[in-house]
Amino acid sequence: MSKKDLQKVVILGTGGTIAGVGEPGMTTGYFSGGMDIEALITGVPGLKDLAWLIGEQIANVNSDDITQEDWLRLTRRINELAQRDDIAGFVITHGTDTLEETAFFLNLTVKTKKPVVITGAMRPATALSPDGPFNLYQAVALAASPKAVGKGVLAVFSDAIYSARDVQKGSTFHVDAFSSDDFGCLGYIRDTKPYFYNAPVKKHTIDSEFDLSDFTELPKVAISYFHVDADPETLRFQYMKSDGLIIAGAGNGEMSLKWEQEMRNFEQFGKPIVITSRIHDGIVTLHRPVPSNVLSGDTLNPQKARILLMLALTKTNDIQSIRDIFESY
Ligand code: ASP
Repeated sequence: MSKKDLQKVVILGTGGTIAGVGEPGMTTGYFSGGMDIEALITGVPGLKDLAWLIGEQIANVNSDDITQEDWLRLTRRINELAQRDDIAGFVITHGTDTLEETAFFLNLTVKTKKPVVITGAMRPATALSPDGPFNLYQAVALAASPKAVGKGVLAVFSDAIYSARDVQKGSTFHVDAFSSDDFGCLGYIRDTKPYFYNAPVKKHTIDSEFDLSDFTELPKVAISYFHVDADPETLRFQYMKSDGLIIAGAGNGEMSLKWEQEMRNFEQFGKPIVITSRIHDGIVTLHRPVPSNVLSGDTLNPQKARILLMLALTKTNDIQSIRDIFESY
C-alpha cells in the first residue's frame, strides 16, 4: 500500500514506561518518559506500514505525575483533531499506573466516534523483550480499524482490547497487567486484526453530557481509604477540603461504626459522598439507610468514581442528578 492510501492515525505521547529508559536489559530502576514520541514510533518495525502516523508530544512523564491540566490538553487536542476528515483515529501512549484513569476521563470527555486507543508497557524500552513496541503496534492497528469506531475509548494491552470504563491495572510487574475482572475484555487483537465479542453499554464519548471546553480546573474530589482503626478525623479532613468525597469502603462499601457515624455528621453540608469498594470486583449496593448526600459508586473503582464525580460536579450539585449520572456511566 502506498503512503497516500493509508489511514492517518495521530499518536499522542504522554510518557510512562513505554517511553522508559534504563540500564540495558533491566526492568526496574529506569526513568519513565525518557524517549520522545518520534523515537518510540521509529523504534517499532513495521509501524509505519499500518497507518500514516502523526506523532505529538502532550507530556513526557511518569504517569503518577499526570495532572488534570494534561487531561484537559489531551481531550481538547483529540476533540480538535477529530474534526478533520483525514484523521481516522488516535493512539495515546501512557504510563500504566494511571492509564485507567486517563482512559476513563477521555471516555467521558472526547466527542468523537473515531477510535481512541490507549496503551503502555510494563517493561521499559531498554529492557530485554520490552512489551511496548508490540502494544503500540496493536494499538495503531486498532486505531486504524473501522471495527473500533463508536466503541468508546479502548485500552490495548497484551493482545486484549478493554473498555476504558472497566479496565484496571492488576499487577505491579507482570506484562499481562490489565483486566476488566468480571466484565472481561471486549475482544482480542491478533497481529493487526481485531476480534470484538462485547460492547460497552454505559454512556461514553458522543453520548456523554460532559463538555469541558470552558473549564481550566475541575472540582476537587478526594478518596478516603477505609482500613481497620481508620481515623474519623482523616475522613473529616478530606471531606472538608473537597467538593465531594469518594469512600473506598471494605466489602460492599462497608466501614466501622466510627467512620459511619462521622460520615452521617456530614449530611448537613450536603456535599456528595460516593461509596465504592476497595475490592476489585462487584457492585456496591448500599442496602442500609444512608444520609441524603450519600450514593453508590456502582461498579466503579474509587479512582474512576472520583473522575465521574468531578465531571458530575461540573454539571450539578443535586444529589439525585448525581445518582442518575452514576447509574448511566
Ligand atoms: N510508573 C510508570 C508509569 O506509570 C509505570 C508504567 O508505565 O508501567 O509511568
